[in-house]
Amino acid sequence: MKFGIATVSISGNLEEKIEAIAKAGFDGIEIFEQDFIADTRSPREVGQRIRDAGLDLMLFQPFRDFEGLPGDLRRKAFDRAERKFDLMQDLGCGLVLVCSSVHPDALGGIDRAADDFAELGERAAKRGLRVGYEALAWGRHVDDHRDAWEVVRRADHPSVGLILDSFHTLGRGIDPDTIRRIPGDRIFFVQLADAPRITMDLLYWSRHFRNMPGEGDLDVTAFMRAVMATGYTGSASLEIFNDQFRGGPARQIASAGKRALVNLMDDVRRAEPDLVTDLPDLPPPSAPTAVEFVEFATRGDEADALARLLRSMGFHHAGKHKSKDLSLWCQGDVRVLLNSDPQGHADTSYVARGTNICDLGLRVPSAEDAVTRALALGSERFQQPRSPEQLDIPAIRGLGGSILHFVDDPLATVWNVEFDPAGEPGEGAGLTRIDHVAQTMRYDEMLSWSLFYTTLFGVKKEPMIDVIDPDGLVRSQALTSTHDGFRITLNGAETHRTLAGGFLADSFGASVQHVAFETDNIFDSAERLHAMGFDPLPIPDNYYADLSARFDLAPDRLQAMKSASILYDANGSAEFLQLYSRPFATGIFFEIVERRGGYDGFGATNAPFRIAALKRLARPKGMPRA
Ligand code: MG
Ligand code: MG
Repeated sequence: MKFGIATVSISGNLEEKIEAIAKAGFDGIEIFEQDFIADTRSPREVGQRIRDAGLDLMLFQPFRDFEGLPGDLRRKAFDRAERKFDLMQDLGCGLVLVCSSVHPDALGGIDRAADDFAELGERAAKRGLRVGYEALAWGRHVDDHRDAWEVVRRADHPSVGLILDSFHTLGRGIDPDTIRRIPGDRIFFVQLADAPRITMDLLYWSRHFRNMPGEGDLDVTAFMRAVMATGYTGSASLEIFNDQFRGGPARQIASAGKRALVNLMDDVRRAEPDLVTDLPDLPPPSAPTAVEFVEFATRGDEADALARLLRSMGFHHAGKHKSKDLSLWCQGDVRVLLNSDPQGHADTSYVARGTNICDLGLRVPSAEDAVTRALALGSERFQQPRSPEQLDIPAIRGLGGSILHFVDDPLATVWNVEFDPAGEPGEGAGLTRIDHVAQTMRYDEMLSWSLFYTTLFGVKKEPMIDVIDPDGLVRSQALTSTHDGFRITLNGAETHRTLAGGFLADSFGASVQHVAFETDNIFDSAERLHAMGFDPLPIPDNYYADLSARFDLAPDRLQAMKSASILYDANGSAEFLQLYSRPFATGIFFEIVERRGGYDGFGATNAPFRIAALKRLARPKGMPRA
């Protein structure tokens, strides 16, 4: 199956779009007429450029308001079509999309429309062109693929076929299984888009909120299963109108699109194996069971300060890498690496961003399966030279310049194989494991990030939450693996004035802003932290006054929270307690959480107070980093 994407789906001028689409590995392109008109090159030059980039020119679109017009308007519609046929021939594109008419004078009538298409098909055939008819969800008389199919069926012309668009079918709530009744050879083209479920005007929803299959709430898999069941052998192409994508980085969005298509067809095959025959086998998404390690790139005074902070949180220096300037800090099942090596990825990352989390390691059932799937979805393998004693731990480039490593049981020997014990004993503070990692990105990149994780891993998306920052809004999307072994929160910043946006600006796009450790008893941990000299993020008294009004908390418990700067949330009988470190480096911080009674959130109601507290401690704007 060939994969395509409409030029309207990504940002930039036509040339930038062609480059990004070719780079992402698509087979072809749908040319959106406006993108062509805005270009200065002739149709022949544009067509040649697209072919030179290794892309098929799959579809020219859209041709609007064609069918069902009376008298003179009908004649003009055919004249317009002839002009577009001229253009298509110059471009070297054989198929045009005609979307159902919204013209106020269109008369309706299935047979009238069918007659128009029979004639259009005749004219197209003379030039070796084909015509595809698509039902717009807001078409004046035809707004349902079943009616569009009836028009095509009655037009009964080999050059006239149906174009299906998942948004128009699913957005109107039409059962996609009705597609299974249509002969596959009469479907000329298939366009795919997902969308979040929002109640709003269909046209507005379609023009601004479409997203990649898997990024929204529509059952695009059911749609595509039905398409494949017809025997359809044509292309699958993305047609995404989305404001975030229009402002986002073209290459990243195009790569996300390719990833979405591969993942979609993999889903179709998992549901109905006989329907997909030409997709290379790929392992199923793996469910990470834990964050195996987080690795900081750091140097000098910043490295010393970070080591002191870790020690004050109960970590002990457990190991020294045999060949690199890399130290291992442990507590419970938490591993933090401090990398000060003057070469390799950590060095590059430090030079670009200062102290930051440059690598994440995830514990997965099979590292080989995880990396194989990642590569099939378009991720780039990451490798750097290693010495003989180093294990070959598979890794890929994640988003935001970070590296993601996959560690399975056999590879977990790395801590003994590659590290010499440092021998420092540790009392600990009762921290048991990494509860979650919080990554920050620009809002317009957020969907690509969540797609990265949902296609690679067995994780589910929690509902998106708005977090109020004193200086703007941050959207927060949590992803959790099926058995809670892995939680990640994605925070999309729309302005640099928010804490998340400021972090992105100051760190030149580092991604991990905080790491949360779990404890079984936060009060006990807080006491031990205090004894070790840990200085928590101070929380104002007003917060605790409000807490006592909102929750039925025993006075001594409330007092214990207040004196340890512990924040609280509850959901029924499930409780969440959290405390934070002060920010360091470009604004990274640690969190300590205790979950009671199956609390599965992240304390979102506390986020505005935590953000305000962190901002009070941030260096004044414009001041250089210490
Ligand atoms: Mg469409
Ligand atoms: Mg958190």
